[in-house]
Parts: sequence; C-alpha cells; structure tokens
Amino acid sequence: MQGQPMIIMGDDSQRVKDEDAQSHNIDAARAVADSVRSTLGPKGMDKMLVSSMGDVTVTNDGVTILTEMDINNPTAEMIVEVAETQEDEAGDGTTTAVAVAGELLKNAEELIEQDIHPTAIIRGFHLASEKAREEIGNVSEEIDADDTDRIKKVAETSMTGKGAELNKEQLAQLIVDAVQNVTVENDAGESIVDLEFVNIETQTGESASDSELLDGAVISKDPVHDTMPTDVEDASVLLLSEAVEVEEANVDSQVSLSDPDQLQQFLDQEDEQLKQKVEQIKETGADVVFCQKGIDDLAQHYLAKEGILAVRRAKKSDIEFLKEVLGASIVSDLNSATSADLGTGSVTRDEDEELFYVEGDQSHGVTLLLRGSTDHIVDELERGITDALEVVAQTVSDGRVLAGGGAVEVEVAARLREYADSVSGREQLAVETFADSLELVPRVLAENAGLDSIDTLVDLRSAHESGDEQAGLNVFDGEVENTFEAGVVEPAHAKEQALSSATEAANLVLKIDDIISAGDLTTEGDGDEGGPGGAPGGMGGMGGMGGMGGMGGMM
Ligand code: ADP
Ligand code: MG
Repeated sequence: MQGQPMIIMGDDSQRVKDEDAQSHNIDAARAVADSVRSTLGPKGMDKMLVSSMGDVTVTNDGVTILTEMDINNPTAEMIVEVAETQEDEAGDGTTTAVAVAGELLKNAEELIEQDIHPTAIIRGFHLASEKAREEIGNVSEEIDADDTDRIKKVAETSMTGKGAELNKEQLAQLIVDAVQNVTVENDAGESIVDLEFVNIETQTGESASDSELLDGAVISKDPVHDTMPTDVEDASVLLLSEAVEVEEANVDSQVSLSDPDQLQQFLDQEDEQLKQKVEQIKETGADVVFCQKGIDDLAQHYLAKEGILAVRRAKKSDIEFLKEVLGASIVSDLNSATSADLGTGSVTRDEDEELFYVEGDQSHGVTLLLRGSTDHIVDELERGITDALEVVAQTVSDGRVLAGGGAVEVEVAARLREYADSVSGREQLAVETFADSLELVPRVLAENAGLDSIDTLVDLRSAHESGDEQAGLNVFDGEVENTFEAGVVEPAHAKEQALSSATEAANLVLKIDDIISAGDLTTEGDGDEGGPGGAPGGMGGMGGMGGMGGMGGMM
C-alpha cells in the first residue's frame, strides 16, 4: 500500500488553493459590486430585471437588484448578504455597502500581490473600520426629533435618484408626518418610533402627487354583499382569522342518502350551521367584520340581512394592522368570540368605491397611500418610500446625521490616513488602503454624474485639508459645496452600518485560502460572459451568475 496517494475527494470535486482561491473569490465579489455601482447616487441609473418567469422589475435599489439577480456563486452570495444585512439594519445604504466591500477587496488584491499576508490585511481593515466608526461619530451632528426641516432633508436625500424623487418634497413631508404620528417619548425623554404603526398601501391609476397620509388603515376590498352598509360610524369591528363556512369533516366521508328528504335534511343542517355562525357574530355586537378567510354565499346573505358589513379574504398583514388601529383582538374561533374582542372606530367608503378607510377611536396608526400610474412605478415608489421611512425613523431615534455627497467619506479617509501613522507593521498599509477604498463613494458619485472622478476627488480632498469637514459633491453642477448646509443629509447609523458590514464581508472573503467544491469549479455559469458590469476576469470561472439571460447590455 505504501506510496499510493490517498484519495479523499470524489471524481467531480475540485480544489483551488492560496492565491488562486483568493483571486477567484475577489473577482466574484467585485463582479457583484460592479453590477450595482452605476446606480449609486442621485444621478445613478436604474436597472431592468427580468426574472425567469418574465416578471419585470425596474429599480435603483441595491438590495432589490442583488436579490432579484439569480446569483449562484457562493462568494458572490456572501456579498449579496451584505446588502441584505444593510437593508435589515439600516433600510438604506445598500449600494454603498456593497460597492465599498468590492473596492476593499480590489485594493486588498493589490496588497496580496505585494506579498502582504491576508491576515495582516484583515487586521488592518478591522482596525480601520473601528476607527472609521468612531470618526463618523465625531463628525456627525446632533439634531432634534422635532427639527422637521432637517429631518425632511434626510428623507429627501434618501429618495434622490429613486422613483420617489420627482415628488420628493411632498413625499418627504408625508413621511415625516407619518413618523411623527407614531413617535412616543419614553420616560428617559428618548424618542421611540414604532414603524409597525405605519402601513403602506399602494394604488395604481393616479399620479404620485396624489399620494396621501391617512389616519388609520386603508383596506382595498369590497363588501361581500351589495346590500350591506358601506359607511359605519361608531363601528364595533370584529377581526376574524377563521372562515365563515361550513366546517368540513376532518376525514373523507361519504354520505349515502336513500331518499330526497334526507338530502334536504343534510342541506338544512349546513344552512343551520352558517346561520349559527352569523348569530355568533351578531351576539358579539359587531356591525363590521373583516375576515381573513372566505365567507360562504349563504352566510353573506344572512350577514347582509342583519345589516352587518362584511369583508372577506383581507390580507393577513391588513388584519394585523387593523388590530393595532382599532385596539381589537384577532378572533380565531367564533365559538369563543365575545364583545371584548371587538375594536371601535369608523369605517367609510371612498368616492371611487374601491377602498375602506378605517379609523380607530383610541389606538393610533397611519397609512401612507401611495399612488402612481402603473404597477412598476408604484412598486419602485414603495421601495423608495420604505427606505426613507426607515431612515427617518432612525434619524428621529438616533438623532445623529452627516453631510452626504461623499463629504463624510473624504473626511473620514483623511482622518484614517492620519491614524495610519500610529499603526505599526504591514497593518498600516491596510489602514491606508481602507481610506482609499472609502473614497470610492465620491468617485462613483462623480462618475455617475458624468464628471471627472479624479478632478472631483482632488477638489474634495483640498477642501477638507483646508478645514471644511462637510465639503461634498454637488452632483448637479459638479461643484464642491457644504452638502450639509445644502440639505444633503444622511443618518450616521446607516453609514456606520454600511462600513462595518462591508469590512466584515471583505474580511470573510480574504480569510479563505482553500476552495473545495463538490462540483466542477471550472465551468462557466450560464450567465453572460464576464458577468454583469463586465468585471475583469469575469467570475473567475466559478459558477458565474446564472439566469441573467436577456439582461445582456442592460447593465
Ligand atoms: P445607497 O443604496 O447606498 O443608499 P443611493 O443610490 O441611495 O445608494 O446613493 C446614496 C449616495 O448618494 C450617498 O452617498 C448620498 O450622500 C449621495 N447623495 C444623495 N443625494 C445627493 C445629492 N443631492 N447630491 C450629492 N450626493 C447625494
Ligand atoms: Mg439610498
């Protein structure tokens, strides 16, 4: 047996090691970052994503692009997770996080080529990221929870470049009003925002400028019966999560009937059961029922006869929101329903007879009713508004904001370069590289605005050197200005989060020096060559991005 190689892996498996593994991974990660770069900032372009089912999404939102893209490369997926974490934690800044992660890796590759060990780079990046967060804290400005003007600017900055931009002033006002409606102060005087109480409803047919903020909930459903009342003042509302239908037997059963009377008896029994359910509803004192499931035709008829307004197949999320708005409980079994489960408020029908407005008597809750002419427009509007809501909520509770347009990145980069002097060893180079990578943000903002990115960066750096900490890029005229004063304002928390998650992802990728794959590593994916954005080296022959057929040339 001696001298024979030990075979521990299957025939199809592949292995890539050391520098090859690193460059494989870095290329894959960069391809992802490059695919979203062109959407960054107010002058960023949109992408049209076509799913394998043919569904079309037009968006500028980083996380949406990456999750809709059918990515099947494991390293690329790690970068997509950065976007997802950012979306969960901060609601905005997803493109920034992914683009910075890609830039960190690109620059790390150069360090590796200079024979700097990945562990030194990882340590340097970690130090730099901690320091960057600290400096973000130092350069941020405190704002008051009731500084509406400034907070509106935060909402507007978050919406620029998105579908929501055209009506950003009006929409920003709606967002700020919505957030203020659901903000309470705790005993320590801190502002607590509960976005659970803000519901977003969309409707096609009118323009975005017809969007409105309404007290309570909006349910776009019809009554189950024509003769039911549609407007109920002082309503007692029952929220039901079970169906008002005949209960089906748990086991398959067969009923054998020997004469027509028996059939009648059987039907009568069902009729009786429905009558009883309606009776139970009536006994709770409800005059309005929102049911998450179905309501039998016969039951509809009985409910209408009792003058009860009933709506069936309401969305689960709507029922849950109504619970908050009305202060009701959700009833899952009519047998145990009592008047204590009901909520109180008013229910009114809109002019076009498409929606119910439901306002609660005591509990709070607001609905942002977003309108737009087509589905694609409303969908992108909703994505933009959701991000802005999140960002405003965070700003109100955290209270720290920053100058946007690349200002904070250039300032923090300068401070990191100073800090690098105090770092010994090869980590110092990594800290400097981290600083350079941050400046990707103003460079790409300039690039996407058709400006010279090098000239812009030179101008920005010199403004910061002469002490203007808030000098950023005005993407509309290409000038360097105090972006904070100009109203380009971002929440500090989102920026901190973007840098941490970008660093963590880059470090995760850098730590890998061995890729062992059960399948074939060298086959190209079925995606277009070079991956989206035409990253150099494509996906390094590692699976690639599948399902991108039909998107060629659109990126
Ligand atoms: P992300 O997904 O990272 O939020 P965006 O496409 O929303 O990406 O772009 C955010 C970047 O655009 C931030 O760096 C922000 O400062 C910048 N930005 C937003 N509005 C303006 C503006 N009016 N002028 C210059 N930069 C802006
Ligand atoms: Mg944004």
